Amino acid sequence: MKKVFNVVIVGAREEEYRILETGLESARFETSLSISRAEVSAMQRLSGQTDLMIYCQGEEESEQCHVPVFVNKTIFVTSCYGRGILLEAFKKGAAYVLFRPLFRAELLPAIRNVLFFSKKYREANLTDASVLSFLRDVADGGAPVLEPLPSPFKPTGHFYPDVLKITGELENEEAYLEALAERGFFTKQLKNRVRLCEMCESYQINYREVCPACSSIDIVKGQMVHHFPCGHVDSIESFRQGADLVCPKCEETLRHIGIDYEKPTDYFKCAQCQTIVPEPVVELECLVCGLVCRPDETVEKNIYAYEMTQHAWEAVRSGQIKGVDLGTLLYDHHTNLYNKQFFEHELKRELIRTKRYHAPFTLILARIEKIEEIRKNHPDRLAWYVNNLFKALSQGLRELDTTCVWDAQTLGLILAETDFDGAVVVVNRIHEAIQKLEYLFDICRPEVSFSVVQGDASHQTVDDLIALAMADLADG
Ligand SMILES: [Zn+2]
Ligand SMILES: [Zn+2]
Ligand SMILES: [Zn+2]
Repeated sequence: MKKVFNVVIVGAREEEYRILETGLESARFETSLSISRAEVSAMQRLSGQTDLMIYCQGEEESEQCHVPVFVNKTIFVTSCYGRGILLEAFKKGAAYVLFRPLFRAELLPAIRNVLFFSKKYREANLTDASVLSFLRDVADGGAPVLEPLPSPFKPTGHFYPDVLKITGELENEEAYLEALAERGFFTKQLKNRVRLCEMCESYQINYREVCPACSSIDIVKGQMVHHFPCGHVDSIESFRQGADLVCPKCEETLRHIGIDYEKPTDYFKCAQCQTIVPEPVVELECLVCGLVCRPDETVEKNIYAYEMTQHAWEAVRSGQIKGVDLGTLLYDHHTNLYNKQFFEHELKRELIRTKRYHAPFTLILARIEKIEEIRKNHPDRLAWYVNNLFKALSQGLRELDTTCVWDAQTLGLILAETDFDGAVVVVNRIHEAIQKLEYLFDICRPEVSFSVVQGDASHQTVDDLIALAMADLADG
């Protein structure tokens, strides 16, 4: 799991550089840090090897409050306390903002969160060996379901105590578990939903009522009065005359509630612009980056419990991660995909229909090639790759066609009312659609082998038909 992370400290003066350097060196991270120093002018030329940049904004009057655009993961250090600086820094790509004077207690968690949320860190933990050792620890831990618990110190407000027990310092448990679920080692169960700031992905958001007209937070709740005879509606204050309630419109004195007047609902009155509204609007203010937005502009984040799958138990038992199971990758994502039992049941029905009514049908097996290679080289992209491939593949099908995961690398398709020639047309169409998925080429140029068998009366059983298709697929 040990990885070296490159940290570049930009623009720091001598003393600050020393503070940062000793702070970093004294921290005991799971990872080692290689610390270097750069001038502000050299910042844009920093290599892609930089895992974390600590940008120290100058303290001269002229440099104050200027925020450059950050390309690297950046912790922004500033002496500028203006309210706008936070949001500007986040908008320009900063991951964290720290105000001078620097405190170790603030610096270290910031560094930890930036590094441990990096792709590099996650990938280091996704090799077969580390996944296997993690699964073994989960199995040994005696809690095969990993439950989330609330924690105010975590970016999403949740953490997994059972995972922390195993990994010690792995701070990005959720992304890690998510990646393992994508690879078929865990199933997910929805436990909670949090709303995160769209800008900085923090869950520390303040919900507050504001005036819909001027956005002031200075609004007060009051009582409304509705005078029946003249229909006037106003705040109770405007009816008040000494001990009586008198309608400001028709000047009649109000007598009995429910008979000549009612108090319908509460209202809210803005102390700034005097607007009266039945409901204030809710506005959100991120307490981390300062972004102000509407509730629907936040990012919804689901929090799951994770349970080990058969695939995971099998890996623990055998001590190795065997191949890829298309089923675990696909079944959660596609509603037009059936299980094998149902598929075989459908095959049986089609065979009977063929024998009785001479209705043609075709069985297609489609094997996704190089899947093992992709699993080795791009484990975190495999689920995405397979799902995109399946989407393209199923686009060429109709409602009445049936698809299933046949085995670990193969899909089964039944084309109803389609003979061999018709099926070949479909296969060609699928083949073309797959070749158009150029965005997959970075990972692997998609390759799918097909076998096509038309069911007919000469096939005694479904097994005969399947055997034929399998033999055909093996021949290529
Ligand atoms: Zn207002
Ligand atoms: Zn009135
Ligand atoms: Zn924010």
